[in-house]
Amino acid sequence: MSNDNQVTVSASLLRNVIREMKELRDGNKCDHSVGLCWCEHDRIVKQLEEAVASNKEQLRDRNKQAVERLAHYWGTYNKQPGYENYSTETFLNDGLYGLGIAIDSRKYSFANGFAQFKRDLLKYLNGGTNYFKD
Ligand SMILES: [Zn+2]
Repeated sequence: MSNDNQVTVSASLLRNVIREMKELRDGNKCDHSVGLCWCEHDRIVKQLEEAVASNKEQLRDRNKQAVERLAHYWGTYNKQPGYENYSTETFLNDGLYGLGIAIDSRKYSFANGFAQFKRDLLKYLNGGTNYFKD
């Protein structure tokens, strides 16, 4: 499938949609004799619930790997020659870079990725609600 057909939706939005769909469904029954059917509705709710479960699973895996990488990163930081002389700015950038690639290594790697992470982080810190919401 091409990426053109993929849409990213936050898990909280998905949970809201599922809740609304279940409220709509509540107490209603199929009456196929008069063409009243909730089967497709139920099938979609089930698919959305599976998507939320899969998202949680991915988040757990991501967090495990991220913490492992960060622990390794900081655990070996003092092997860098001259780290004692690093500036505050260098510590801050190194820490932020580590966090960025822990959150999304594909998106936030290398100079361009780090620039993107700082832009996203700034928007988040300024109250942007669409940044870093799972
Ligand atoms: Zn039905």
